[in-house]
Amino acid sequence: MSWTDNIRKITPYVPGEQPKNPDVVKLNTNENPYPPSPKVSKVLKSISQDYDVLRKYPDADMSILVDALSRTYDLDPDCVFAGVGSDDVLAMSFLTFFNSDKPVLFPDVTYSFYPVWADLFGIKYKEIPVRDDFTIDPDAYLQPNGGIVIANPNAPTSIYLGLDHIEKIVKNNPDSVVIIDEAYIDFGGQSALPLIHTYDNLLVVRTFSKSRSLAGARIGMAFGCSKLISYLRDVKFSINSYTMSHDVLRIGTASLEDEEYFTEITSRVIDTRNKAAVKLNELGFTCLPSATNFLFVTHASRNAKEIFTALKERNIYIRYFNLPRIDNYLRITVGTPEEMEKLYDALKTILN
Ligand SMILES: *Cc1c(COP(=O)(O)O)cnc(C)c1O
Repeated sequence: MSWTDNIRKITPYVPGEQPKNPDVVKLNTNENPYPPSPKVSKVLKSISQDYDVLRKYPDADMSILVDALSRTYDLDPDCVFAGVGSDDVLAMSFLTFFNSDKPVLFPDVTYSFYPVWADLFGIKYKEIPVRDDFTIDPDAYLQPNGGIVIANPNAPTSIYLGLDHIEKIVKNNPDSVVIIDEAYIDFGGQSALPLIHTYDNLLVVRTFSKSRSLAGARIGMAFGCSKLISYLRDVKFSINSYTMSHDVLRIGTASLEDEEYFTEITSRVIDTRNKAAVKLNELGFTCLPSATNFLFVTHASRNAKEIFTALKERNIYIRYFNLPRIDNYLRITVGTPEEMEKLYDALKTILN
């Protein structure tokens, strides 16, 4: 007998590498290549003046951010929840909504944090295979379950599942909470957000990390009917009342006040992505149809891991997952046009 017999053991999620070397072309963690809104910079400057506010606890209700989100998305503030990145929001949502003897369903190829949270919280789950073309089969989610979580567009496949299919899943599972993780929705596809007015079992989760260039600030949110959100708040207030700091609440609010900038950088990323798909095709890659800020690709004749390693030696970081079904694929985050040129040049050398 040892103390190690009585502790909670978990195989953790492995985040993408954050290299210390600033000269790296960093296309490995789906960050936005453009800076956050200049309005965020202004807020940061004013924070240095108002630093005395840090003596006090922040607003546990996160009101300025929740109100700004409710204005931006035209929702009642009671339908809005915020947290420390969508990872925090998703973890709390798993803990809140998945408490059944039946398994939670999610795709076998998806965000690899889902099975980790399920294991951590002792939630049973069943992985539903995506089709051979990596699309999600919506009919496979019409079986008994204790909840459903689907990333849409999915990661790392980059593929978007039509809203009619999402609605079918939500509608036909009235006894389960269905979580739609829309981390990438600003880069393509139609959001399930309007459906929260029709279905009280739907939670839509979003993040500021990708489309709003604020991965470092850690801001995520969830939208659902007020009853669903109230259960989520109860769990949050049972873990940590003060998840978001004063500064972060103001940073997020400032970002929401600059929709013009948001639209501008999002459309730039989409444009670069579409051009990159053509370019990578010319280099012998097949790209899955992307509705995100990354491309999921495989090469006709060259091994994915070898390409990954050769790029890394040239200080170009992309993501390789040594996982079943996708171990010959690479995930490439869309960078600036200049960064993408460096990628194409390196690939030409490596592939020749
Ligand atoms: C990036 C990502 C998240 C987490 O984002 P946060 O930075 O924690 O907001 C959640 N789900 C998916 C599918 C993602 O790709």
